[in-house]
Amino acid sequence: MKRRDFLKLAGAASLTACAGTSRSPSNARVVVIGGGYGGATAAKYVRLWDPKIDVVLIEREAQFVSCPMSNLVLGGYASMADITRDYAGLQRHGVQVVRDDALAIDAAKKTVRLARGGDLAYERLIVSPGIDFTFGEVQGYEAALQSGAVLHAWKPGAQTMALRRQLEQMRDGGMCIISVPTSPYRCPPGPYERASLVAAYFKQAKPRSKVLILDANPDLTSKPGLFKAAWKDLYDSVIEYRGNSKVIAVEPGAVRTDFDTIKGDVLNVIAPHRAGDIAQKSGLITTANRWCDVDWRTMESKVVKGVHVLGDATLSASGMPKSGSMANNHAKIAAAAVVELLNGREPQPLKIINTCYSFVSPKEAIRVSSVHQWDGSTLQPVKGAGGVSAARSEAEGTLAWSWARTIWSDSLA
Ligand SMILES: Cc1cc2nc3c(=O)[nH]c(=O)nc-3n(C[C@H](O)[C@H](O)[C@H](O)COP(=O)(O)OP(=O)(O)OC[C@H]3O[C@@H](n4cnc5c(N)ncnc54)[C@H](O)[C@@H]3O)c2cc1C
Repeated sequence: MKRRDFLKLAGAASLTACAGTSRSPSNARVVVIGGGYGGATAAKYVRLWDPKIDVVLIEREAQFVSCPMSNLVLGGYASMADITRDYAGLQRHGVQVVRDDALAIDAAKKTVRLARGGDLAYERLIVSPGIDFTFGEVQGYEAALQSGAVLHAWKPGAQTMALRRQLEQMRDGGMCIISVPTSPYRCPPGPYERASLVAAYFKQAKPRSKVLILDANPDLTSKPGLFKAAWKDLYDSVIEYRGNSKVIAVEPGAVRTDFDTIKGDVLNVIAPHRAGDIAQKSGLITTANRWCDVDWRTMESKVVKGVHVLGDATLSASGMPKSGSMANNHAKIAAAAVVELLNGREPQPLKIINTCYSFVSPKEAIRVSSVHQWDGSTLQPVKGAGGVSAARSEAEGTLAWSWARTIWSDSLA
């Protein structure tokens, strides 16, 4: 999509400002930290919308692995190859992809320190590091994670494969505990989708087994009616849900809440999380020691000038989930703003959308969508826009796969 088309679609206030010939200073360099949903999209769109700007993407992993659709891998209904893409598409757009770890940001000198040595200078920096965990909030978690006794699988890759192996090795008649941290967390419907797909696998391969969801929140945080209806119809004797059940400790073969110690064969405790480490180390976190507040017209940090923060790391605006769909849209706000700023023009606010599909069985899915527009100080959900699907269906399942393939190609190809 061309920048003008996106801005038009997004209802940007000023199209004329964006239509002019690029005047970006030669050698202007934008550095992007993190090649996930937010960072990869931002890197591509800065290049698309102003090819005179040099873009360097710093990503520690060799390949992009998607969290969305990874719950299907856990159930045995998709493979790791299905959810993995490379960065060659970005390179074809002229993005320089550097496989390294960004260790520190010096906002005064406008440089990023790299783990392999050297500092990279930037005019504008985009930071989309996703999340890291506050393991200390769950007693015994870190030691249990080291030994493999507990897994989160809330970042895709090795943890996804390890959790799948544990589910395969679990005895029939066993119990898989999935715990949900207090909201806000990455992907509100993700734990409930996971419970559904693990239950589908148990029903087919280990019919005496159970899934217990221990939710720190009082009720499901996303699509409660649709999930509960699916569980009643499909997994009535498999899934048990307990709200207000925060996991506070992990013990050998068990988890502890304020009320109980509960034994489990597979412990999938999704630990509480916050903005990724680089955001914390660079003073970008503003709120509750977790999230980074931004100006929603530009995604620029409210505390570190010249640095734009995207995706899960942000302090979400009202009604905005932490999702890949949102991170992709944040990236377009940031890319448009960075191009405008580097060309000496005033960025304009954009209208953005979110769509999250969740599988409730190997083929059937449900959906939630929302639209967010600038109200003069922040992005607000548009009343009456979006909503949830009427019922679970295979048609939504087909759309879910189309959504995934489209967003991977929009971000990376
Ligand atoms: C099980 C599950 C299912 C989900 N399903 C959906 C769904 O159906 N739809 C949806 O929209 N969202 C879904 N999500 C949420 C989605 O995955 C996240 O919201 C999205 O990945 C956020 O994008 P991001 O750019 O903020 O972070 P990420 O996509 O996590 O990208 C961060 C990247 O930064 C890199 N990085 C971090 N720090 C550094 C550093 N210092 N140096 C170099 N590289 C660094 C990481 O390696 C990573 O590649 C799901 C999440 C989970 C866990």
